[in-house]
Amino acid sequence: MRDPVPAWVGVGANLGDAQATVQWACGQLLQFAEPGSFCASGLWRTAPWQAQGPDFVNSVVRLDTRLSAPDLLMQLQLLEQQAQRQRPYQNAPRTLDLDLLLFGHAQIWSPHLQVPHPRWAERAFVLRPLAQINPERVSPAALAAVAGQEAQLMPEAQWMPEAHPLNALPKEP
Ligand code: ADP
Ligand code: MG
Repeated sequence: MRDPVPAWVGVGANLGDAQATVQWACGQLLQFAEPGSFCASGLWRTAPWQAQGPDFVNSVVRLDTRLSAPDLLMQLQLLEQQAQRQRPYQNAPRTLDLDLLLFGHAQIWSPHLQVPHPRWAERAFVLRPLAQINPERVSPAALAAVAGQEAQLMPEAQWMPEAHPLNALPKEP
């Protein structure tokens, strides 16, 4: 069996009930995570950036997974299909977008998969949520560079609080 590798997945939606879809997708990603390794950022409302349509809801999830990077991408695409993702044209609004941002130290450049994701470091909708869960991965300079992109934490919305590992800690006797 493969050793677990830390992976970061960008989750976004701006069609349909975007918040509900992002929360559902984050919950689905749990199935690929080693126990105790799953962590999701808060939900962020962001203006479309190199995309079209209504505002997005975004999150970034970290998990240790035994899947290979191509297998994880395949699972992400299956989840997109389950959310009725359509690709009528490039950068079209989407019911669900799941991007593999980072996969351990892997450097992959194949026609169907590039890791690290080529544009992850220029996007506020990646950097702001990522800085919440792994601040050491995001430099102040990188955050400053995306300060012009609108991104607001949705304090009232969590991804799925009842399934968060912190909530699964044993209760005090
Ligand atoms: P985007 O997210 O850039 O708007 P899509 O979600 O439509 O575009 O993805 C287009 C293609 O990008 C997918 O078919 C997939 O094979 C490819 N791709 C390459 N690298 C990645 C990655 N790291 N994560 C997700 N998709 C990727
Ligand atoms: Mg995508």
